[in-house]
Amino acid sequence: MRTEISIKNTKSKFLGKVEELSGESIYACYQCGKCSAGCPSISEMDISPSEIIRLVQLGEEKEVLNSKTIWICASCFTCVTRCPKGVDLAKIMESLRQINLRKNVDYVSPLSIPKEILSQVPQIALVSSLRKFSA
Ligand code: SF4
Ligand code: SF4
Repeated sequence: MRTEISIKNTKSKFLGKVEELSGESIYACYQCGKCSAGCPSISEMDISPSEIIRLVQLGEEKEVLNSKTIWICASCFTCVTRCPKGVDLAKIMESLRQINLRKNVDYVSPLSIPKEILSQVPQIALVSSLRKFSA
C-alpha cells in the first residue's frame, strides 16, 4: 500500500497523459530490453524503445517528445509480441506522437517532400513517417 501511494505521488503529468492516451501502465515495464533487442527500426532511432519507456517513467518529457524514435517507430508490433510484461509499446509510441500532433508538431511535412522523392519512396515508409495510427 505504501509503495502504491509513493508511486502515485511521484507520477509526472506527462506520464499520466501517456497512460491516459495509450491505456498502458508505464510502470509495468521492468527494463528487460527485449523490445529494443527485437525492434527492426532500432538502427535509425536516436533513443531505443526501452530507453523511451524509461524516460517516460522518469518524466523526461522534452527528451522523449524531441526524439526521432517516436516517428521512426514503424508500429510493427514486434516489441508487443516480445514483451514479457504485456506492455504495448506501439500504443505508447502512438500516444507520444499524439501529444506532439496535438501541439501541431510534426516530424515530416508531406508538402516538404520533393515530387521526385515521393515517386521513389516505398508507400509504407511514407505512411510510417507521417501518421501510422494517428488521425
Ligand atoms: S512497434 Fe516500433 S518500437 Fe516496437 S518493434 Fe516495431 S518499430 Fe520497434
Ligand atoms: S520488453 Fe516490455 S518490460 Fe521489457 S523493456 Fe520493453 S517494454 Fe519494458
